[in-house]
Amino acid sequence: MITGPGGSGGPSARRTPPGPPASSFARWTSPQAEGGPTLIVPVGSLEQHGPHLPLDTDSVIAVAAATSAAELLTAGGEYVAVAPVVAYGASGEHQDFAGTVSIGRDVLTAVLIEIGRSVGTWTTRLVFVNAHGGNGAAVRDAVRLLRAESRDVSWVAAGVPGGDAHAGHVETSMMLHLRPASVHMDRAVRGTGGAIEQLLPALREGGVRAVSPTGVLGDPRTADAQDGARLCGLIAHDVADRIRHGCVDDAGLLTAPARETVASPQPPGVPAGSR
Ligand SMILES: [Zn+2]
Repeated sequence: MITGPGGSGGPSARRTPPGPPASSFARWTSPQAEGGPTLIVPVGSLEQHGPHLPLDTDSVIAVAAATSAAELLTAGGEYVAVAPVVAYGASGEHQDFAGTVSIGRDVLTAVLIEIGRSVGTWTTRLVFVNAHGGNGAAVRDAVRLLRAESRDVSWVAAGVPGGDAHAGHVETSMMLHLRPASVHMDRAVRGTGGAIEQLLPALREGGVRAVSPTGVLGDPRTADAQDGARLCGLIAHDVADRIRHGCVDDAGLLTAPARETVASPQPPGVPAGSR
């Protein structure tokens, strides 16, 4: 039976039992999962992120967003757990670049559906935290179908509204905060600027290579760890707020609570044209 995130008996009614940390779910024993936590599943990718960021950037960001959000929810008394990341995504648009390993939209959709059906036998609520835009269609399709099967499944995007699109200031800053040893700032080059909406037609037609020879959309040269920490904090609070208070829209997305104000995604001093 479905109990929507805002419904009676919903997640806010669950309280944290004494037990293992939410982030170590894979090391729980089966009896420890019997209480039916809200399960948060990060969804990432393994794809090129320019000459300076690692292939697993989206997975690192998805895990960080899910884990930090879970810590906030746990501190507020919610009973949550973070599952291991879905580390392969739909990355066909990056396939012209070495290192990209894509399982495509259809397979990712099927993987997410089967995850939902499986966990639905022992817990009542599942939230996907997606950090790769190219996964969006698969996540939406899977969540819609699972909800049509009367399951309490939804998703959130671990991203910054208005931020640059790929391997630019936003992702590079977050990686400088989360895993600096994997970031090669000496190789960072300015990529193609402009709004992703304007690039999308050419990107869909010819992939990322058609709009950016380096694979970078945005400008990573302005990145810094301090801003990365700020951006990670914004995302964690946004994800936690949506899980705690959000409503589910037609695409299965948890919407931001109305009281939330969205902070500026760009730090001072970043030229508008570099987004
Ligand atoms: Zn990325």
